[in-house]
Amino acid sequence: MKTRKTRKIKIGRLEIGGDSPIAVQSMAATQTRNIPATRRQVEILEKAHADVIRIAIDDERDLEALKEIRKHTKSVLSVDLQENYRLAEKVAAHVDKIRYNPGHLYHLDKDKTIREKVEFIVNAAKDNDCAIRIGVNGGSVDPDYQARYPDDSVEAMVRSAADHCQILDELGFVNYCVSLKDSDVEKVIDANKRFSKERPDVPLHLGVTEAGMPPEGIIKTRIAFEQLISAGIGDTIRVSLTLPNEEKGEEITVGRQIIDDIREGRFRSVPENFNDRLNIISCPSCSRVENDKFVELAQDVRELTRYAEKYKLTIAVMGCRVNGPGETDDADLGLWCGPTKVNLKQGPEPLGAYSYDEILPKLKTEVDRIIKERFGKQQETAV
Ligand code: SF4
Repeated sequence: MKTRKTRKIKIGRLEIGGDSPIAVQSMAATQTRNIPATRRQVEILEKAHADVIRIAIDDERDLEALKEIRKHTKSVLSVDLQENYRLAEKVAAHVDKIRYNPGHLYHLDKDKTIREKVEFIVNAAKDNDCAIRIGVNGGSVDPDYQARYPDDSVEAMVRSAADHCQILDELGFVNYCVSLKDSDVEKVIDANKRFSKERPDVPLHLGVTEAGMPPEGIIKTRIAFEQLISAGIGDTIRVSLTLPNEEKGEEITVGRQIIDDIREGRFRSVPENFNDRLNIISCPSCSRVENDKFVELAQDVRELTRYAEKYKLTIAVMGCRVNGPGETDDADLGLWCGPTKVNLKQGPEPLGAYSYDEILPKLKTEVDRIIKERFGKQQETAV
């Protein structure tokens, strides 16, 4: 492993960056307002020895729940502001780190400049001794940057992150890290390498977003982490897996295992055709998940489509209406969950909304149709 050159930052009592150990973190998959369920998530992640536990906050109800959850844990807590950056001021006193997404800031309070919105978050962090993560996500990049780099989505991510770093630098705030996540492993590697070359001083939080279920989700994550961590890139990691809530600790166990393997030089070979077959992307679930059946649905989709494993198709399964529609646009078939219906799409085109009982046969029909159209092998579609 090459030596990391980033500066150290403090997240509560935890230090990341430089020669600090790579911190392993995860996020509660439950609705934050469901206090018993979210406290149970925190307990599970604590038992797995998570260095940081992230909780999503969307509104005042989540904020009240966060205050209650904070009373019962001494863990280092991070908050994900989702799309409500205005809550920064109220949550900062209860957490050690605030994550904001530059892409989401674009859509809010259009009468304010991006810099003004960032300054609001920075002031909240400064007043409460919090760290900040500038969390860029390939599925929700600031539209200005997408327009500027229409043929290079990685550059759009890197430029957005670098510009936000500059704003924080100009505001005199140095206690921050950056993440550049995507569901495409190659883009994660490319984005983090480009960013790290430009800003070797800024600590990086690594992750492959919507990596999916084990074992494929672990393999995808491992590919990215092996390339980056062995090159001295990465100060904290999150393995995003679609798992039943009671098994969420596996994200931490797997993360530590990957780091140990890289440190010991145990690199796993990846089958040559790993990227040329069925790819199921699924989100790790969070406070926004709209129906508890989401994880089961993702697992059922994988079982249902096993017969199609040799075809190069991408199926995305997402837990909510906020990120679901956008994050399924690039998939051959996308499913995103509403409270009672699952929305089915082909690329950006909607195919309809179906109940949780109806969706799997409908999905099978669409998979068969696409295989027939693209690969002409309808005879192999029988389950
Ligand atoms: S798609 Fe929705 S439910 Fe899934 S992790 Fe993203 S925000 Fe959470």
